[in-house]
Amino acid sequence: MTAAGVWEFSSPQGLAHYRNALESYPAQCIVDLRALRDNMRHLVSVSGDAAVMGVVKADAYGHGLIPSALAALAGGATWLGTAQAREALALRRSGIGVDRCHILTWVYNGTQVPFEQLIEQDIDISVGSFAGITRIAQAARHTVASCGKRARIHVKVDSGFGRNGFTPESFDQALAALVPLVEEGLIEIIGQWSHLAVADSPDVPEFVASTDKQIATFHEFTARMKQAGIEAPIRHLANTAATLDRPDIHFELTRPGVGLYGYEPDPAMGTPQTYRLRPAMTLQAQLGTVKDVAAGHGISYGRTYLTPDNTSTAIVPIGYADGIHRSASGFDMQGAQHVNKPGGPVRIMTREGARVLHVSGRVCMDQFIVDLHGKASELGVQEGDTVVLFGPGRGEQAGEPTADDWARAADTISYEIFTCLRNRIPRLYVHAPEVLDDADLALLDPQTIL
Ligand SMILES: *Cc1c(COP(=O)(O)O)cnc(C)c1O
Repeated sequence: MTAAGVWEFSSPQGLAHYRNALESYPAQCIVDLRALRDNMRHLVSVSGDAAVMGVVKADAYGHGLIPSALAALAGGATWLGTAQAREALALRRSGIGVDRCHILTWVYNGTQVPFEQLIEQDIDISVGSFAGITRIAQAARHTVASCGKRARIHVKVDSGFGRNGFTPESFDQALAALVPLVEEGLIEIIGQWSHLAVADSPDVPEFVASTDKQIATFHEFTARMKQAGIEAPIRHLANTAATLDRPDIHFELTRPGVGLYGYEPDPAMGTPQTYRLRPAMTLQAQLGTVKDVAAGHGISYGRTYLTPDNTSTAIVPIGYADGIHRSASGFDMQGAQHVNKPGGPVRIMTREGARVLHVSGRVCMDQFIVDLHGKASELGVQEGDTVVLFGPGRGEQAGEPTADDWARAADTISYEIFTCLRNRIPRLYVHAPEVLDDADLALLDPQTIL
């Protein structure tokens, strides 16, 4: 039996790829490119006149860099954003040229990054440190001479996040370093940008006030740039939360990340459905050993879970080495620690319909155990059945767990749930031919197209 929906295969080969993945891996991560495209379409429509950057850092939040980037472009994104330079270069190397989108990269140390390559590949670079200014200027001296390309930079300002960017105190010095480089024709100021600390708490007045303060500071930076004679044509500040909730700060470009993958930034804001988003990723696995155990049987390391009744257990063959959080372990009062805490949810199909059960005991390296709270033979649960850890849906209460439910169980955020999934779990794509044209489709590993 399977607790997953019916997958729509695009061709007999797609079905063959799926069967091959079931044979090769105990779990699969299935990403719906139609959901990714439609989420982007929605984010583009709420962004109004602003352009939209699909943030595809961290392997597109674990969804797979190239397929997700292509789906974002199909949905109307005209920019892509990555943290690391390596990922930005990978996008260009895959064949996503400057005719299709701008790319911005922002996490580096000022000394080791291949700035020349970035400039040659028409990749925009964030600048928020003095070491960065110095090295980019050096690189641009070479590229202007070798291929006539200036560095396209986005000046990062720290409007209150306390992470990257020039502070108000250091900004005069930064402007004094930047202006001559513009005049010399080495750099082109494309953007001014910053990041918000608490845009995902629209109901907390204190946080709204702090976001308003960040916005005011952002405007002050703009004014100071203007005074120095270097106006940035593109200002950007809005992450997913602000893209959805703060149209007043869309400026010329929005930068949604998690929304593209179908999640609201914080469950306190509502559910994906509240924002007309659809989670793109489903994590499914095939059960290993299913067996009967007596009441009072210890389950997994540390005996943190003792079976309350005579029952059956099932093994889900992925663990923390696959990115399943050990903090999503499930304890019960009878266990050694006398703690009552349900583990991460798992949707399992039984003869009477789907049930959501929970990780019982500690998550191990390669597997975890689920108490079925009943006899497997009566429930009809068998080794090889497909179960779902999370997918698109209305949440655990509705029998359809999402990454938000796993985040709650693991005391973290959905972002960490999907970015932690490791490469022992293959990423497979449904609706790829529907979303991508033939040229783009050819950029995917054929084995991953279902
Ligand atoms: C990750 C990131 C984003 C996207 O944030 P979401 O909350 O996922 O929308 C935008 N801007 C910067 C600088 C980021 O690092």
